[in-house]
Parts: sequence; structure tokens; C-alpha cells
Amino acid sequence: MAETGSYQEVIVVGGGPAGLMAAGQAASRGLRVVLLEKKHLPARKLGITGQGRCNLTNTAAMNDFLRSFGHGAKFMRFALGRFFNQDLVSFFDALGLETVEERGGRIFPRTQQASDVVRTLVGWVKESGVKIQSGRAVRQVVAEQGRVQGVVADRQGAKEEFVGTDNIIIATGGASFPATGSTGDGYALARALGHEIVPVYPGLVPLETAGDTAPMMQGLSLRNVQAGIYVQGKKQAQDFGEMLFTHFGVSGPIVLTLSREAVQALNRNQEVKLVIDLKPAVSHTALKSRISSRMHARGKRKISNILKEFLPIKMIPVFLEKSGIDPDKPGSELTSPEHKALRMWCKELCLDITGHRSFNEAIITSGGVKLSEVDPRTMQSRKVSGLYFAGEVLDIDADTGGYNLQAAFSTGWVAGNSVGAKKA
Ligand SMILES: Cc1cc2nc3c(=O)[nH]c(=O)nc-3n(C[C@H](O)[C@H](O)[C@H](O)COP(=O)(O)OP(=O)(O)OC[C@H]3O[C@@H](n4cnc5c(N)ncnc54)[C@H](O)[C@@H]3O)c2cc1C
Repeated sequence: MAETGSYQEVIVVGGGPAGLMAAGQAASRGLRVVLLEKKHLPARKLGITGQGRCNLTNTAAMNDFLRSFGHGAKFMRFALGRFFNQDLVSFFDALGLETVEERGGRIFPRTQQASDVVRTLVGWVKESGVKIQSGRAVRQVVAEQGRVQGVVADRQGAKEEFVGTDNIIIATGGASFPATGSTGDGYALARALGHEIVPVYPGLVPLETAGDTAPMMQGLSLRNVQAGIYVQGKKQAQDFGEMLFTHFGVSGPIVLTLSREAVQALNRNQEVKLVIDLKPAVSHTALKSRISSRMHARGKRKISNILKEFLPIKMIPVFLEKSGIDPDKPGSELTSPEHKALRMWCKELCLDITGHRSFNEAIITSGGVKLSEVDPRTMQSRKVSGLYFAGEVLDIDADTGGYNLQAAFSTGWVAGNSVGAKKA
């Protein structure tokens, strides 16, 4: 039996970017806000974003920005319309955290430290008057007759406690990188209140490949390549940029982006292939004549030497082994099927995708609280009055590039400015 504790005007569950923004906004409107965070410190995940540099948002214009959300674009239009990329940049600027724009419109803190973003955000939340209670996991949201009544939360070294309130914002994040505290609790909390949860699966996740081709090139990263995902032989998506070979398969920015289509197809038990074009700027025809002319011009040299003009060093022994070409063979003696094998390796290096990595390695979670059951103008539940959602707990996921953090901040901003509106 939970002990009965205090009454709060607003309870925010989860201290990630969405919960912190929501709590700070609500407190800035004069509401009494308590934020309950399961871990001993808030924003653990925010602190490791962007490989420790935190890609806060993206300068893309609204329609391009929305495109990165796939099916969630329509829902996100409202939140982004109220608090968009420039608003976020100005928000942090006003708090003394300058930002810089990098390739692809990606915005980072000038200091290149995600920890500075966390420190600035948490500092602002505390100054706004929010009481942050860390080490407190919310186990249940209590509602009666379609209205929230309060939460049951852990209390260190004591019994669970019931804390009463009329307003709850669930901002518990997804289920990826669970060591940061995001273990999917919000899905169970929402489901128990009658919300439908769109099935969740790892998003922006590395992919596993068949055979030893990729593992043999482990550690090799490629720049300016194009890769496409083929499902049952049909191209579903393609992207241009960087990728990486690993001990299990492939990773890196373009693989993470393409993983959305790949994971969905794998879930349907469909055949998935990744086809990599190492030389997207050169046509098959142009490459064919370039290979012939090089083999002719450097004819006396060993093929393993000439290949340095076509392939990264780490890839050469793998290509030679897989194509069965003798590394000592002089270039002029290469047969026409061997010329073709090199061209196909350069233009259509094909890897069978057999699976994806788990939530432990996924950047985000796809699926979550069904969007049609949440009012996008306020983030309030259409099922339970006084209940709000913000951030990744919703069925929202976007490409890499700063879009996911902007989604967390924007939905948090809207929830924080809508909660308890009648009393404000
Ligand atoms: C390695 C990595 C790098 C990333 N880099 C980027 C990037 O550079 N740019 C970008 O846009 N996105 C990035 N993302 C995605 C981005 O971090 C998330 O989309 C974002 O953090 C979601 O914010 P949130 O507030 O909804 O949830 P979270 O950040 O997951 O926060 C949820 C919080 O709720 C707490 N919580 C959970 N359950 C309970 C409970 N029962 N009671 C109390 N508290 C609870 C958790 O402890 C956690 O602190 C990255 C993700 C990962 C894993």
C-alpha cells in the first residue's frame, strides 16, 4: 500500500529534454511543478547525444524538417509551428549557451560538449522553480472517471508514495539505450490508462549482415558513398554520406537512416539487401573505361597495387578474396569477368541484411503512444483529462540530424505551456 504524500499542481514524469523543457515552461507560468526522475541525475541520455557533442537541432526549413518524421509529420507540425529550430537556438542563447551550425544544417553547442547543454537546461529548470526529485521512479499513474488523480512513485529507502495532482506530463522517453533510464516505462503507464501503444522496435539502429564480408572490413569507414535498401528486390530508400563496417555488419549515419525501412521489412520477414555505390559520381560506363585504361597503363604492376586507385586499402584483400583474383596477377592479365567484378564491387557492393541490433544500440524507439489519441495542439490525452505526453514516448521518430531532440523540446514546450491551462 502506497503512503499518501503531498499534492502538486503539476507532476512531470521523466527528466530528459522533453520533461525538463515541459517542467521549466510550466513553472515559468507560475505553476508549482515537481519533476520525478528515475535515475540519480536527470538527462543522462542528453549527455551522450551526438557522440558527446549534442546535435541539438537542424536549420532545415519547416517542410524539409517535417519530412524527416515520416508518418509523424502531420502531428509534429503543430508543436514545431509553436517552438521551432530558431526558437530553440534563441532559448539556449538567452541562457548563455551559444551554438554553431555544421554540415547538413546540424546545430551543436559552440563548446562541442553535450554536458554543457545538460548543465544549462537543468540550471534553467531549477531557477524556474521546478523541484527535481531524482532517484524516483513512477510506478503508476492513478486516474478516476477519466481524470488524473496522482502518481505512485518510489521513494528512496521508504515505501512507495502516492502524490496527488490534477496534471501529469509523461515524458519517460523510449526504450533505447536503457542504461540511461529510458526503459519504456511510459508505454506501460499509458497502456494502463487505456492508451493504445503502437508496437515499439529499435529505430536508427545498426544492421547485421550475412557472411564475413562486412566483418572482414571491420573499422573501415566510407565517406561520400550512396547506399540503397532493397526489399524483395525493390529499392525502398537510399541515402548519401558516411557509413562504417563493424564486426557484425554495418553502421554509421546513412545506415542508421536506412534502418527504418530495413527493420520494418525484417519484421515482416522480407528479404532485405543493402547495396553500396562507392563511386556515385561515376557512371558504370565511365568506370568500365577507367578500369580498362588503368589496367592497360599499369599493366605490368600487380593487381593488388593498381587497386589502390579504386578501393580503400582495407577493402583490397577482401575484394581479392571474394572475387578469387590472384593478388600477384599483373593488371594487363585481368580477364573481362574480373574487370566486371571490380566494377560491380565499386558500384553495387551487395550485402544481405539478416537482422538489426537491439534497443541497447538503437538511437531511438519507433512506435509508442498512438498519435491520434493525443491532441497535437496541447499534447493532452484525448482519453484522460489532465494527462499529457511529451517526447519519444509518443509514436514519433525522425532521421538523424538533430530532429529527434527538437521533437522532444518542441513537444515538451507545448505540454508545459498547455498543462493546467484553466488555472493559469
Ligand atoms: C547515443 C544516442 C545519441 C543521440 N544523439 C542525438 C543527437 O545528437 N541529436 C538528436 O536529435 N537526437 C539524438 N538522440 C535521440 C535523443 O537523445 C532522444 O530522442 C531524446 O533524448 C528523447 O528525449 P525524451 O525527453 O523524450 O526522453 P529521454 O531523453 O529518454 O528521457 C527520459 C527520461 O525519463 C526517465 N524515466 C523513464 N522512466 C521513468 C519513470 N518510470 N519514472 C521517472 N522517470 C523515468 C529516464 O530516466 C530519462 O531520464 C540520441 C540518442 C542516443 C541513444
